Amino acid sequence: MVEKYLLLTPGPLTTSEEVKGAMDFDYCTWDDDYKKITQSFRQSLLEIAQVSEEEYTAVPIQGSGTYGVESVISSTISADDKLMIAINGAYGKRISEMADIYGIEHVDLVVDEREPITLEKVTEYLDQYPDITHFAMIHCETTTGILNPIEDIIPYVKAHGIVTIVDAMSSFGGVPIDVKEEKIDYLISSSNKCIQGVPGFSFVIARKQILEATKGLSRTLSLDLYDQYAEMERNNGKWRFTSPTHVVHAFYEALAELKAEGGVVARHKRYESNQKHLATGMADLGFKLLIDETYQSPIITSFIYPNDEFDFNEFYHQLKNDGFVIYPGKISQVPTFRIGNIGEVYDEDITKLLAAIKDIISQ
Ligand SMILES: *Cc1c(COP(=O)(O)O)cnc(C)c1O
Repeated sequence: MVEKYLLLTPGPLTTSEEVKGAMDFDYCTWDDDYKKITQSFRQSLLEIAQVSEEEYTAVPIQGSGTYGVESVISSTISADDKLMIAINGAYGKRISEMADIYGIEHVDLVVDEREPITLEKVTEYLDQYPDITHFAMIHCETTTGILNPIEDIIPYVKAHGIVTIVDAMSSFGGVPIDVKEEKIDYLISSSNKCIQGVPGFSFVIARKQILEATKGLSRTLSLDLYDQYAEMERNNGKWRFTSPTHVVHAFYEALAELKAEGGVVARHKRYESNQKHLATGMADLGFKLLIDETYQSPIITSFIYPNDEFDFNEFYHQLKNDGFVIYPGKISQVPTFRIGNIGEVYDEDITKLLAAIKDIISQ
């Protein structure tokens, strides 16, 4: 058995005992009770997205978050379409890789990983490439913890008649997003991030009118978003292929806990206060933040190595001994490490973490 620790990583993250407890039964995958749970959580996701079931639908896809993104990219964009991808980190790059694999024509708008995507840059590119039909960007780029301003950019892009795709994997449920107001056609997230469930499926909040026009476009069988949607509609919440039954029950419990906490607004407040506490505490210990405060998300924070002698591996293991697991950095320009503050993580945990870090660096 491994020693228990608090996950300070942005998903999988630390979940509650009740969420873990909800998995302690072997559920049937096609039973009516199970299908009801699926239908109910699809409805809850629309509420979190602040949209109506007349205009939008929530479609789960088996697999990790990437499977949901790949489902949208591979099954809703035709061979005649042209995709623009705004990239300022690994997750934006991942969409570009998918477009390459499926032979989808694409234009990459690449920005320094330490800087946000701006409306100015997007405008410049759209002027240059007037034949763009689809646009994809990341909300919280978990690579660095930067929060891209989708609320400035997406409505502008949509006004050009372009289909809009937002990877809100690490923000949905933890940062309020008004999907309709922000003109998002496809939003993707997963079970193991801000909703605080366990890993096993992703989900897409899709504008029905747009999704329904994609029938037959899929390049794969299992990632066909339209087909999964059609099956769920036809069969009252039946998944195509084996569904992650335990994960779904844990997710259902996690949604109840989100509601009990006071919804997304309350959760956002807790995450924000965790992050502020972490950032100021670390700054007091002499660590510099990679991302400017203006664009720093309340999800995960990148810290620059304090000096050339800093040994991340040793730091990581010392912290793990103290009961905290953190993340290495993921960018090339500057050596960094990352600390997430989402999940069952509260102010007192941040206090304990900062005390442990203080002890380690003063040794
Ligand atoms: C976590 C994450 C993903 C998906 O990653 P998986 O490892 O496939 O779950 C995609 N985009 C962003 C921004 C993420 O944070």
